[in-house]
Amino acid sequence: MRWNPCRVQVMAAVALLIACAAATAAARPGLTESRIELARPIDLVVRTRDGGSLQGTLVAWSDESIWLSPTAAVGGSAPVEAERILHWSELDGSQAFEIRRRLINPRDGLAWAELGVCMLRSGEVNLAERAFGVAAVQTDERLAAACEEALRLVRSGGDPGTSLEALREARREQALDGRAPVDGAAASAPVPWPVLTQAQLAMETERLKRDAQEKLARVLLTIDPLETDHFLLYTDLPADEARRWSRRLDRMYAKLLEILAMPRDARLFNGKCVIFVFADRGRFVEFESAAFGFAARRVAGVCHQRGPDVFVSFYRMEDETRFISVLVHETVHAFMYRYRTPVNLPTWANEGLADYVAAHVNPKSREQEDHWLQARRFVESGGDVCEIMRQDYSDGTWFTKDSYPVSHMLVHYMLRDRPEAFRKWIDDVKSGAHGGDWRASLEDCFGVDPQRLADGFRRAMLTEQSWRR
Ligand SMILES: [Zn+2]
Repeated sequence: MRWNPCRVQVMAAVALLIACAAATAAARPGLTESRIELARPIDLVVRTRDGGSLQGTLVAWSDESIWLSPTAAVGGSAPVEAERILHWSELDGSQAFEIRRRLINPRDGLAWAELGVCMLRSGEVNLAERAFGVAAVQTDERLAAACEEALRLVRSGGDPGTSLEALREARREQALDGRAPVDGAAASAPVPWPVLTQAQLAMETERLKRDAQEKLARVLLTIDPLETDHFLLYTDLPADEARRWSRRLDRMYAKLLEILAMPRDARLFNGKCVIFVFADRGRFVEFESAAFGFAARRVAGVCHQRGPDVFVSFYRMEDETRFISVLVHETVHAFMYRYRTPVNLPTWANEGLADYVAAHVNPKSREQEDHWLQARRFVESGGDVCEIMRQDYSDGTWFTKDSYPVSHMLVHYMLRDRPEAFRKWIDDVKSGAHGGDWRASLEDCFGVDPQRLADGFRRAMLTEQSWRR
């Protein structure tokens, strides 16, 4: 019933998410290690470990530090007045992780290992292990061993950075004689969505408003949007109801950040995500045809991915629980498209995750239980879970009648048992690890191939006597 034309793979923009604050960290003289200038400086508000915050423009970084320049005032935070150097360890740990991982080439294993060491030096062992996990699956055994060594060193009070010295030296030598880097950090790696400044985000949002009005005008409508932190909602529903839905959107967004262990202030959309909700199904179908050239007669809702922009469109079905499910489901597609890179998860995971989040945000829904029952019947009767994992939008094999329930329960199973591995797997797939082979990433993150995943899932389903969250 739903369709997700998530195939447009045009480059564009994501936003970092950097939060707010004003800091007191002192500049450290004498840090002359290699400074990397940013082609596109990033306006941000840095949170520091001592609870302070500092607004500035990130202009350069190195293995040790970041450089903040004075920024044009965009908000209420205290701006820096002269260029400031902040050591990574002076930043709030999770923000440091988020900033740095967006500065590195996501396919550069050594860069991930360096990020891990940086986290260890700040006492952030969990974040370090997350980075080492990515490093280890992307490259060779030597790097995995070096990551292990870094963890061992930090436990015994040593400097974890020494574990990477040999690899860094090898990288320098290769650079000198022009050979490829150690791990072949690929030219074909997917390009992350660019990070937008506050000013750019505002500009994109204004552009989207004009675009949305222009689309509505094609069916002779003019609607003022309800604007939330992350969404522009255009609807012809009564005002009270519209406000109710708009509040739910930001809650759902927060839930997704939580599932993906992202900072609460993460900004995913290119400006905002545009949502159209029509009171009438006929109007929805007419609008889809006029605005997007899409024949929506078979679907309940749709998420359009156009370059950097995402548009979700659907109608107010009578069953409110079902309506919320579609709202959340389609918006998850929009969110995942904008998460890190435009690379799509495999179809089953894309759809399973959307149903999973929809069910979690909507506890009154019976969908989880219904899906559990249907998936249980599917495995009991010898259904082939791997076959559903092979279905794909692009070849028309997605979907058959059990595809949604089984994919939903499979994602539920993975997230319940191994949430960290699941997140890492998503990160891997989105960063194009293993040449974009999600199965190889699965092996690395979960230690299983699709068949063994399916076997484990089948056993788990068969031992459950009833639905449990
Ligand atoms: Zn979907």
